[in-house]
Amino acid sequence: MSQTNHNAKRFDTLLVANRGEIACRVMRTARALGLRTVAVYSDADANARHVREADEAVRLGPAAARESYLKVEAVIEAARRTGAGAIHPGYGFLSENGPFVEALDAAGITFVGPPASAIAAMGDKSAAKARMHDAGVPLVPGYHGDDQDDALLRDEAERIGYPVLLKASAGGGGKGMRVVESADGFQAALDGCRRESQAAFGDQRMLIEKYLTQPRHVEVQVFCDTHGNGVYLFERDCSVQRRHQKVLEEAPAPGMTAPLRREMGEAAVRAAKEIGYVGAGTVEFLLDADGSFYFMEMNTRLQVEHPVTEMITGQDLVAWQLKVAMGEPLPLAQDELTITGHSFEARLYAEDPEQDFLPATGTLSRFAMDLAGAGLEPSRVRLDSGVETGDAVSMHYDPMLAKLIVHGDDRTQALATLNRALAALDVQGVVTNRAFLQRLATHPAFREANLDTRFIERNEATLFAARQIDLEAYAGAALIGLHQLARECESDSPWDRHDGFRLNAPHTIRIALCDPAHAQDEDDSEAVVVVEGRREAEGSPWQLTLGGRTFAATLEPLQGDAVAVTLDGHRRRLQARRDGNVVVMVDPQRETRLFWRRIDAIDHGHHEAESTLTAPMHGTVVALLVEAGTRVEKGMPLMVMEAMKMEHTMTAPADGHVESFHFAAGDTVGQGDVLLEFAADE
Ligand code: ADP
Repeated sequence: MSQTNHNAKRFDTLLVANRGEIACRVMRTARALGLRTVAVYSDADANARHVREADEAVRLGPAAARESYLKVEAVIEAARRTGAGAIHPGYGFLSENGPFVEALDAAGITFVGPPASAIAAMGDKSAAKARMHDAGVPLVPGYHGDDQDDALLRDEAERIGYPVLLKASAGGGGKGMRVVESADGFQAALDGCRRESQAAFGDQRMLIEKYLTQPRHVEVQVFCDTHGNGVYLFERDCSVQRRHQKVLEEAPAPGMTAPLRREMGEAAVRAAKEIGYVGAGTVEFLLDADGSFYFMEMNTRLQVEHPVTEMITGQDLVAWQLKVAMGEPLPLAQDELTITGHSFEARLYAEDPEQDFLPATGTLSRFAMDLAGAGLEPSRVRLDSGVETGDAVSMHYDPMLAKLIVHGDDRTQALATLNRALAALDVQGVVTNRAFLQRLATHPAFREANLDTRFIERNEATLFAARQIDLEAYAGAALIGLHQLARECESDSPWDRHDGFRLNAPHTIRIALCDPAHAQDEDDSEAVVVVEGRREAEGSPWQLTLGGRTFAATLEPLQGDAVAVTLDGHRRRLQARRDGNVVVMVDPQRETRLFWRRIDAIDHGHHEAESTLTAPMHGTVVALLVEAGTRVEKGMPLMVMEAMKMEHTMTAPADGHVESFHFAAGDTVGQGDVLLEFAADE
């Protein structure tokens, strides 16, 4: 078996072929075991935290991952130069790359992970399914054949029955994966998945699965050594996901019974042994409401969410990995492993939940957590992070900044700790999902462990902040700002207007309302709501666009501080207190304090709809989907861009045509760049 060939031997220097929080985390354990640590870095990371913390660091190349972290020869050369006897790949990058492991074997360097043959057996989702099927592990109904003809795939989808899930065979991390609801959307989804898969994995093969509508994602941590021992370290529930990517994980899985735990654990160890596995691995299952479970895939590496397993078992999984890589037997046998308490992990991403989780970039003006101030016990809270105050968050890599991991005697206590810790986490300068995580963790359905993989979708209405604002209070504050701005502008001479205002044409004024109670700074987009107002003439009602809806809106001063705000005929009385650009709207139930500022003016004189489309984020252009001049209908996809490995499609703002594109496929664009000129039909 491949186990006997596995290149396990003692080493005293470890190179970590990764970046961010996982590189820092692996080096922490390596240092504790007395090893010397070597970091590698790209130009974008020359001063990154993992570089600062390592004993030695070697440059790999430019910022793009394929020219640095994914460059096999450069990584091996770095190990040679520093005398590293072993390489830990972390996750992502080279962690599941068979040829990399073979190259290390040839170079006599230990790979902290499974043999190349085991990676190959699981690396391809389709091949893995065939193998697991033969080993008697239950599978979701689907198609995982070699024939990739469009028509055949469409027929297979039909046979399996919609909704189906398209998955990149070579995929991972939710990339190249889409749900298809009906035959209509099949071809477009197939094309998109292939493009994403090609970009991320250099491979276009797809598999199709029946899309289960309410499954839980429950995965089992397994560990094998080079002596033929294998154990499972119980399960994790990772059902809370966005875009098929995990956001909140916990261990043990709520409601898990001892017999099911044993059944799933043993199936997982069987799967690992079937492929001659060595080291840490995770077997992922979908758990259906009726208790049946289906093999999804095996991740042949350490997982992002491994800390929750460490918390409940009291084991350091990286220490286990390093010991196994040195040829030692597993530290514990199955009957010596136990579960103590409950653990959660929350992933902090640089992204904007209110804008469909769009990745964000910038400089962290503050990144800190005051445990003592929040009354938290250090033994119960762990922040695994790859960044510190002052660090830049670039578009080049995954947007995950850090992980917050907590432990409690039971689920209720652990959840209370998670909430306090999230509140104590102070992140400024870059938009993050911190407040969103807090809303998840305080959500009644989450507290009741009413979980499935569509948890976020199902609870959308209560999870997204912008939809919970006091509408009339916001509208009132916006109208106060709009009246003031309109007065200022309308008293100007028309010849002096430099801001897009036109004679004889209604104009739009944009205002940003910021709630300082929820803002970490003035640009904190979690707390900023953009309002647009336009009116035909002085004195006529405003057309106000707020939270995705447009209202006919008026503001009427009453006695004293009182005002009446009317939105589409619904009138509400509030007190409005003003101090410069700060407005406090008060009613007996609540008080909303808002700071308003003007963003810009938009010229609506000529084109009815927007005439340009701007990049919502820094990224690259993947494809232009129409030719300039072709007539399109509102909502039709025009252009695809990508940032941080996620695709984002720009669609037509109205019926009309693209006059010109400013960029071509492959070009880099900055946030706010004008991508194309659009002419709406008259
Ligand atoms: P990746 O390797 O890209 O992470 P996975 O195959 O592990 O992709 O699937 C990721 C997530 O997608 C799962 O956790 C689950 O939420 C969802 N998923 C995968 N397969 C199915 C399916 N057949 N039906 C419903 N949901 C699925």
